[in-house]
Amino acid sequence: MDKMFKEIKVSREVVEHKKYCDVCGVEISMGLACSAARCQICRKDLCEKCIGTEKSTFDEYRDVWCINCWTIGEKYRPAIKELDAKCKQLYDDWYAECKEPR
Ligand SMILES: [Zn+2]
Ligand SMILES: [Zn+2]
Repeated sequence: MDKMFKEIKVSREVVEHKKYCDVCGVEISMGLACSAARCQICRKDLCEKCIGTEKSTFDEYRDVWCINCWTIGEKYRPAIKELDAKCKQLYDDWYAECKEPR
């Protein structure tokens, strides 16, 4: 038997990170890859049930609003949407004019 090797016991502390929903108190299960859902506005950690809306993004960061903040936004969003469209139109016009032959 090879006596060069000794058996050394290493104990490792296992740390579990637990997160709880700031709205309903339910434990939020977190995968390694996914970041926790947190409301953009009030910064509350949210479980899947308490997410008001989530914008799909391509990176790991999640664009999330809680039900409360999303509901408050109901009266603001139509105007924002309208201005967004107007903004886009202005950019389109600007860029189109630059591409015109002169
Ligand atoms: Zn919740
Ligand atoms: Zn919120």
